[in-house]
Amino acid sequence: MRAHARISLQALRHNLQQVGELAPAARIMSVIKANAYGHGMVEAAQALADSDSYAVATVYEAVTLRQAAIDKKIIVLQGASSREELLLATEHKLDLAVHNHNQLHLLESAELTAGMDVWLKIDTGMHRLGFAIDDSHEVMARLQQCPQVGAIRIMSHFANADDPGDELNDKQWRDFLQVTTGHAAERSIANSAAICASKDYHLDWVRPGIMLYGVNPFLPGKGETPSLQAVMTLSSRLLSVQQHRRGDTIGYGASWACPEDMPVGVVSIGYGDGYPRHAKPGTPVLINGIKLPLVGRVSMDMICVDLRQCPQAAIGDEVILWGDGLAVEDVALHADTIGYELLCKVTSRVEFSYV
Ligand SMILES: *Cc1c(COP(=O)(O)O)cnc(C)c1O
Repeated sequence: MRAHARISLQALRHNLQQVGELAPAARIMSVIKANAYGHGMVEAAQALADSDSYAVATVYEAVTLRQAAIDKKIIVLQGASSREELLLATEHKLDLAVHNHNQLHLLESAELTAGMDVWLKIDTGMHRLGFAIDDSHEVMARLQQCPQVGAIRIMSHFANADDPGDELNDKQWRDFLQVTTGHAAERSIANSAAICASKDYHLDWVRPGIMLYGVNPFLPGKGETPSLQAVMTLSSRLLSVQQHRRGDTIGYGASWACPEDMPVGVVSIGYGDGYPRHAKPGTPVLINGIKLPLVGRVSMDMICVDLRQCPQAAIGDEVILWGDGLAVEDVALHADTIGYELLCKVTSRVEFSYV
């Protein structure tokens, strides 16, 4: 078997349990958008059955969950942006975020039967989605007058939660408290980093995403996480081992030269599998428990590895690209990206198995 993603459902459940221990008073909205950050949305939903609800980005993701017979509460974080989406949301009993006036109009003008639960999204400083703080009381009043609306809850999102010392967090937090005071509505502001950063942020609902998949949500060195377990282990095999001479160059562009006579391994994985093309020489891979550096450029189907510290490595040996023993966030640092992106981008050529 070559490129393979092993998904540990036990690790997923362990990480959910860690969220529960950190935030015992809050309800948990497990974020499984983008195919559960590349892990498989339906499988993740089933493993995370102890959650109080799920969150996805789009109505279509939520419909996929309903079609897989998932009947738990589902929140659509981007809400409905057309009549068609609104009708789908009604039909499938989805909760919708309402983040702008278009969505508010759509909701007010729709002839829906059932009371739809909505999440009023307020922009406290992320400046991406959400009503301005100054508009939020009026929007709240209009939602309350909407006969088609059931429960109304309030949410916002931090821009810099991955750096708990950043002053924008405090500003967003104070503004959120201020604008929501006086409403009886349940509230939510915490993604993974905010959940780990402060109990204050937990409020009524927490929204863990990346931490469920076992990834440290903080920027390097910026905060403390509970003990999380990697859910995805991406691995492949050594396809070839060659002894090269000092000065031999490796791969496309001939950009990396052997500093001495040395063994170089070729691993059957590349950007066609979702391994990042921007991974620089020195990016760690794990062979027989030893961290070894990538050399040369990442190709579509292969990468090359300096085997000097593991000369016994042989064709067929397993190579771990991230997961068990090698944090995806470490790999991401060497590729100028974040763990989130690497996990989301694993392609369909990779075989997935669930254990
Ligand atoms: C994706 C998302 C989350 C989860 O964020 P993590 O950093 O992965 O925990 C929470 N809330 C909203 C609104 C999101 O879009």
